[in-house]
Amino acid sequence: MSSSQQWIDRADKVIMKTYGRYPIVPVRGQGCELWDADGKRYLDFLAGVAVNNLGHCHPEVVHAVKQQVDKYMHLMVYGEFIQRPQVRLAEMLARHLPNGLDSTYFVNSGSEAIEGAMKLAKRVTGRPEIVAFRNAYHGSTHGALSILGNEGLKNAFRPLLPGIRFLEFNSIDDLDKISRETACVVVETIQAEAGIIPADNDFMQALRQRCSDTGALLVIDDIQMGFGRTGVLFSFEHYGIVPDILTLAKAMGGGMPIGAFISSAALMQTLSIDPELGHITTFGGHPVSAAAALAGFEILVSGDLVPSATRKGQLFHSRLVAHRAVSEIRYKGLMMAVELHSGELASRLVSRFLEKGLVADRFLFNQYSFRIAPPLIITDEEVHMICDIILKCLDSLD
Ligand code: PLP
Repeated sequence: MSSSQQWIDRADKVIMKTYGRYPIVPVRGQGCELWDADGKRYLDFLAGVAVNNLGHCHPEVVHAVKQQVDKYMHLMVYGEFIQRPQVRLAEMLARHLPNGLDSTYFVNSGSEAIEGAMKLAKRVTGRPEIVAFRNAYHGSTHGALSILGNEGLKNAFRPLLPGIRFLEFNSIDDLDKISRETACVVVETIQAEAGIIPADNDFMQALRQRCSDTGALLVIDDIQMGFGRTGVLFSFEHYGIVPDILTLAKAMGGGMPIGAFISSAALMQTLSIDPELGHITTFGGHPVSAAAALAGFEILVSGDLVPSATRKGQLFHSRLVAHRAVSEIRYKGLMMAVELHSGELASRLVSRFLEKGLVADRFLFNQYSFRIAPPLIITDEEVHMICDIILKCLDSLD
C-alpha cells in the first residue's frame, strides 16, 4: 500500500470530513508546487482556494513567522496589550484603503469577519434587517450561514438569524427592497461560489447609492477576491466605490489564519460602549499571523505581482477559450471559472486533473464549471504548462 493510502486510511478513522477527500497527502509545498507522501509532484492552481496568493511557503513570510515565534506567540485576549505586529499591519491596511476604512478589528477567519460586520451594522443602526443575495457564500457559522444564498445548505440548521432578506444579484430593480429597516447589505463584488459571477458596474453604483439613501451600511465581503486576486489590491476598487465595512481573510495571512472587519473609527468605537465588550476574540489577530500578513502585504504592494494577475488571467483565457468543450470563461485577474457544456464533464475533468498532477476544484453552486485560482506568483511558463495539461485533459474527455 502506498504511503499516501496509509495516511488516508488513518485520517478516515479519526478525522471528520464534510467534503469529499482528494487522494493527496502533501508533505511539502513551495511556490506553485506540492509534493505528496509518495513523491508525486502537483501543480497547484487552486492555492488553498485563494489563500496562497504568494504560493506555498513564501520565504519572506516564513522568515517573518520564524522571527515572531522567537519573540512571543499568544499574550493576552481581547486587545488589552498592544501587540506591535497588529499595529503595523493595521497601519499598513489603513495606508492602502480609502478614508473611512481606517480602523481594523482582527479575527481568525472569514466567517468571523462576517459575524463582526453584521454585529457592527446592527449596533450602529439599531435596525433589525440584513440584506444578502441569492447564491452568495459568506461562511459557515450561524450568522454567516443565515445570509448564505442557497436554501438547501441551510435547512438542516434552522432556526437561523431572523430578519434576513435575499435579493437577486445584479438586479437593480430589487434594490428598492433595501429600506430604512435595513442595518446592512452584505455583498461580494464577484460571487465566487456561484461560479465567478461579477457584479455589474451599474448594479454596484446603484447599490452604493441605495445604501447611502436609506442609511443601510454597505458591507463588501472581499474575503475571497481580496489581496490582489483580481488584479487590484481590493476588488471593490474596480467599481470606484467605498464600502462602509470591509471584510477580509483568506489570502490576508500569506497562509496563516487571520481575518478582519474594517470600518471608520467612529463606527467601530460603538462596539466598545454599551456594552463594553461588543465584540471579543481570544486568538483574533494572533501575532504570528499578523507578522506573516504584514510580510505578505509588503510583497504584494512592492512589486508588480498584483497588476500582473490581469495579464496572466488573460493568458489563461486566450489559451483555453477556443476549446470545443468550453462553453464560457468568466474571470477577473487570476480568479476564473471555466464552464463546460455539461456538469458530468466538469466532475470527470477534476479527477483527470488530479491524475495528471494538477490540483483543481469546482464551485459550491455551479456544477458546470471548474475553478482556476493559482498563486499570483505563477510564471508565464507555468501558465502555459498548466494550460497544456488542461487542454490535453479536455481533449481526452470525448
Ligand atoms: N466569504 C467568502 C466570499 C468566502 O469565499 C469565504 C470562504 O470561502 C468566507 C466568507 C468564509 O471564510 P472562512 O472559511 O475563513 O470562514
